[in-house]
Amino acid sequence: MPNQPLGGNDMPRFAGPNTFMRLPAQDTAEGLDVAFVGVPMDIGTSWRPGTRFGPKAIRAESAMLRPYNMGTGAAPFDGLTCADIGDVAVNTFDLKDSVVRITRAYEAILAHGAVPMTMGGDHTLTLPILRAMAAKHGPVGLIHVDAHADINDTMFGEAIAHGTPFRRAHDEGLIAPDRVWQIGLRGTGYSAGDFDEARGWGFTVVPAEECWHRSLTPLAARIRAGIGRSPVYVSYDIDSLDPAYAPGTGTPEIAGLTTPQAVELIRGLRGLDIVGADLVEVSPAYDPSGNTALTGANLLYEMLCVLPGVPYRSRPGGA
Ligand code: MN
Ligand code: MN
Repeated sequence: MPNQPLGGNDMPRFAGPNTFMRLPAQDTAEGLDVAFVGVPMDIGTSWRPGTRFGPKAIRAESAMLRPYNMGTGAAPFDGLTCADIGDVAVNTFDLKDSVVRITRAYEAILAHGAVPMTMGGDHTLTLPILRAMAAKHGPVGLIHVDAHADINDTMFGEAIAHGTPFRRAHDEGLIAPDRVWQIGLRGTGYSAGDFDEARGWGFTVVPAEECWHRSLTPLAARIRAGIGRSPVYVSYDIDSLDPAYAPGTGTPEIAGLTTPQAVELIRGLRGLDIVGADLVEVSPAYDPSGNTALTGANLLYEMLCVLPGVPYRSRPGGA
């Protein structure tokens, strides 16, 4: 039997190791199918700080998660060997050096053949991860769920920041534009065309208004059809959710996705060749109830449940 999360009947859930779901800890991704990893960074943020504490808080809230997905029948730990390999040693005094360090860390994870599941950390971190991904897989598809497009050219003159990663990824050829989906974009911009430039590159942009009041299961089906069998990376910014559900984040925008929509979208990605995923922008200082980190932990678990190789034991309603 592969690694199992430490159960609440063996150690109280409020105790034990602060790893994701209280999985075993190890130093490298050797022997793993899935490596949970933290990137404790907030020096790429432009408004509220605090995401450096995101991985700790997500791990803490993940202690309540049990191994089986009662909604879908997914049994991820019956099929995949998972562990928490700790945090990337970012240089909190130097964002550019941190980006280099993150790429190196993910190259090492990918060299072991593991799928990295990342706890952020501000959204800058996805650029160095995509650099490692593209070095292994070539340009990857991308499912980017966010209130923001994160395609600024520069922020305060800087090319590397949490609002620029997907323009850089496009510039560098790390992603396949016709297999990029941006979902949940909304709010205010610097110009009326802020979300349109990426459409010109080939991205499919689904603003929040097109998600309001409806199931996201059909959207997930469109994404599956559009991406097919190609490798795809999932980057999930917690601020895609409405601040009513996820207030603990750096750049909140009103009128976002609901928690059930977030879960529907992820569950609908089953069958894709997902090669990595991240859950970013949880800022515990603005999250006094812990709900944002709890939601982040659950969404990361849901992403685990749709990875290739996860067995399914049953389906709700016998469907
Ligand atoms: Mn973002
Ligand atoms: Mn965002």
